[in-house]
Amino acid sequence: MKRIDKALRIGRVLDELFPVPAVPLLHSDPFTLLVAVMLSAQTTDKKVNEVTPELFSLAARPKKMAALPVDRILRVIRTLGLAPTKARNLKAMSQLLLDRHAGRVPADFESLENLPGVGHKTASVVMVQAFGQPAFPVDTHIHRLAERWGLSSGKNVVQTERDLKKVFAKNEWARRHLQIIYFGRVHCPARRHDMEACLICSWAASSARKKREGSRHGM
Ligand code: SF4
Repeated sequence: MKRIDKALRIGRVLDELFPVPAVPLLHSDPFTLLVAVMLSAQTTDKKVNEVTPELFSLAARPKKMAALPVDRILRVIRTLGLAPTKARNLKAMSQLLLDRHAGRVPADFESLENLPGVGHKTASVVMVQAFGQPAFPVDTHIHRLAERWGLSSGKNVVQTERDLKKVFAKNEWARRHLQIIYFGRVHCPARRHDMEACLICSWAASSARKKREGSRHGM
């Protein structure tokens, strides 16, 4: 089956399972989304959502975040992975928004990726979810599933992003990246399960892969 046909069929399955996928991180505007995505590196969304209400009650605007001592931010987010680095980055990022962007989150990739602690994936989430710009954020889970489903060679995340952008229509990108994340969370966590019973791998994975991985397949 051609990649583009596979993507169409996968899209139909995803639309049925997750018709209106919501951004799983609590936020109310581009700044709070940016903060939440920065906090989510190497941490579950659930853990991020446990600390952001307190953090946003202290600082839901760049000016307030930049004014907080790093130690104060760290105290609120200490349960998250890489907390000391994240605390420093949040303060520095907020200061830069004030210095260079009049306290606003910029809606362009270059400016976003120049902010401390903001990589391409974080910038992509903000672009597509906060500003409705075409972007396809690819994390390790999406990268792995795209390869298993035969939508990408799986060489690296840069290639996967390029491949997924080719097979899915631009106006689908915002929901596809969320749907794939949700699919992984709901269907893939088991260490051992039957690929033949999987709603997507059963027909999308190559027979060589199924033979090789059998029921050992998991995320
Ligand atoms: S076979 Fe399992 S790990 Fe692979 S995509 Fe399907 S549910 Fe996920």
